[in-house]
Amino acid sequence: MSARRILIVGGVAGGASAAARIRRLDERARIVMFERGPYVSFANCGLPYYVGGEISRREDLLLHTPESLWDRFRIEARVRTEVVEVDRSARTVRVRHLATGTESVEPYDALLLAPGSVPVRPPLPGWERPGHFVVRNLPDVDEIRGWMEACAARRAVVVGGGYIGLEMTEQLHRRGWEVSLVEALPQVMAPLDPEMAGWLHRELRARGVDLHLGDPVVAFEDPGPGEAAGASVVRLRSGFRLPADVVILALGVRPEVTLARQAGLELGELGGIRVDDHLRTSDPHIWAVGDAVEVRDRVTGRWTLLPLAGPANRQGRVAADNICGRPSRYEGSWGTAILRLFGLVAGCTGVNEKTLRRLGLPFEAVHLHPGSHAGYYPGAEPVALKVLFHPETGRLWGAQVVGRDGVDKRVDVLATALQAGLTVDALAELELAYAPPFGSAKDPVNLAGMVAQNVRQGLVRPAQWHEVERLDPARALVVDVRSAEERRQGLIPGSVHIPLAQLRERLGELPRDREIIVACASGQRSYFAARILEQHGFRVRNLTGSYRTWSAARETPGAATWLMGGAEGPSPARG
Ligand code: FAD
Repeated sequence: MSARRILIVGGVAGGASAAARIRRLDERARIVMFERGPYVSFANCGLPYYVGGEISRREDLLLHTPESLWDRFRIEARVRTEVVEVDRSARTVRVRHLATGTESVEPYDALLLAPGSVPVRPPLPGWERPGHFVVRNLPDVDEIRGWMEACAARRAVVVGGGYIGLEMTEQLHRRGWEVSLVEALPQVMAPLDPEMAGWLHRELRARGVDLHLGDPVVAFEDPGPGEAAGASVVRLRSGFRLPADVVILALGVRPEVTLARQAGLELGELGGIRVDDHLRTSDPHIWAVGDAVEVRDRVTGRWTLLPLAGPANRQGRVAADNICGRPSRYEGSWGTAILRLFGLVAGCTGVNEKTLRRLGLPFEAVHLHPGSHAGYYPGAEPVALKVLFHPETGRLWGAQVVGRDGVDKRVDVLATALQAGLTVDALAELELAYAPPFGSAKDPVNLAGMVAQNVRQGLVRPAQWHEVERLDPARALVVDVRSAEERRQGLIPGSVHIPLAQLRERLGELPRDREIIVACASGQRSYFAARILEQHGFRVRNLTGSYRTWSAARETPGAATWLMGGAEGPSPARG
């Protein structure tokens, strides 16, 4: 039998993973990988750090070359070669050699589409002016670096506060540029809820980034009289005019489905390629992976687009197995992601509260702010944790973590717990590694489980940060149990002050005809207060996450309305 001919479109994350796995499974197959760009297997995720100089050697971004793929795997990687047409009945593709413009036709037994995504371009005049860039591949960042070096002034405008926009903001700032970050929504990093994104807003402002939230760009214009700008003046809906020497367009991505559409393959409702759980398209000889496909959201069961490297790599492996006759399934993605922004790290897994509200799913939310490791050991930092769970079953819906230390491992533990179908009660019982430099005898993840368990067991009823904004003073009163010194740093307007140590003696000052919402810095002391008050017959709720969460939410304009899916409610696509 002659060797199978397996063709792959796209030579980076999904395509290269699949190609290498196919070779490990089938030594005889002829594997040809087409890549329209000049490089295969490059590190997209490292591109912002190369712009900022944190990754200094360009060659470190090139994980493989066509030569190394040939030497190690006998994979024919053809760069600057675009697949322009699929003929499904003949089982051939038409390929254009971009250097010469010549074309050839290549037959296949199996075809894998891993064409990735394309950056969303703003539907506005002027975005194609010189000095306006997307960040998609190595040639893009070569151009950005070259342009920046030639700039006399150093003012950058980043449009879009998703992962790439935030990473570029950090890296441009690192190079000493003044950076404005413009986001049309009221918050950056959409997978977070608005109060959790508030930490990122605070960090951006503290670093001197000129942050514009809820204020879309309406035009890229020529500088007016007296306005010097190397690239354009970015005009916002509010009327702000931001002179820019470089403009980074990071408005998100959409699936690259040009070939799939031309080939008549089924597309999904979100515009990605529709695949089954073997990653096979509507054609039995064609598979597809990565940013180009729609996947099942494992938490909600709905279709979603999740343009991330982890899923693309794992899908490449699964598709390779199936192409080689080893049944293998990709059942969906969980939305686990992480980002560093200056000194902060933010991560999430599963679904957020915005999504749960939009889908009308029942949930309970708890916030807490434990230390990243034992408080007596130097260097502990608070970790803001939000855990969402089903009120009846206790199953996790999702979690968000923001802090300066120990965020990555908490996100990964919570992601693993979510995937294992654990309940919040099980989180309380997880046996996690502990010594003072690394955690606490009760790890933040254990504590999250315990706080949620207290809610489930009826020991405490949580109040949420957004409820405090809308309290009717005739019906409820906020009681702050922190110290006077802490209140001097900031307080919830209208709250009355009774330090925890005096609470038992001052019960007579509290009304019995109104609900009492107790607050402290993080929700821990106020929980103690809630237990005292409840056992003395008061109607009481604990402000979960307390002052820290409430004040972080104030960093996001209109946070409560946005959370509830108000006028500018969350869009259906996550990410
Ligand atoms: P890609 O890796 O994008 O590969 C697709 C390739 O197909 C492209 O090179 C394209 O040129 C080629 N192609 C398309 N059409 C054709 C055609 N017709 N013929 C030939 N070739 C074609 N993800 C994370 O999880 N963490 C991160 O930190 C992270 N950071 C990122 C930073 C940046 C700047 C970018 C751009 C992405 C980042 N991502 C990150 C996303 C991650 O890189 C992608 O999700 C992943 O690369 C998708 O893999 P893929 O195989 O689907 O597509």
